[in-house]
Amino acid sequence: MIKCPRCSKEVSSRPGSICPRCGLKVSEVNEKIRCPETSCRALVSKKFEYCPKCGCKLKNYTLTEFIKMARCKIDDKLNEKE
Ligand SMILES: [Zn+2]
Ligand SMILES: [Zn+2]
Repeated sequence: MIKCPRCSKEVSSRPGSICPRCGLKVSEVNEKIRCPETSCRALVSKKFEYCPKCGCKLKNYTLTEFIKMARCKIDDKLNEKE
């Protein structure tokens, strides 16, 4: 059992469970994802759109955005050496 973050009612922690009191999708809110920023890698709740630690965007990445970001990182590394 987990507590609903909105109304603190006890809700089953199984995937897809919804709070019977307020209807919040509890499992979704409590689910955590890794920050895609390689220097950060913080565990962040899925309800955030941006990482609270480094401020990078957490979801709705397009592949192009992701590749662009990875490329920027490589450029940073190369520039450091000079
Ligand atoms: Zn609730
Ligand atoms: Zn981060």
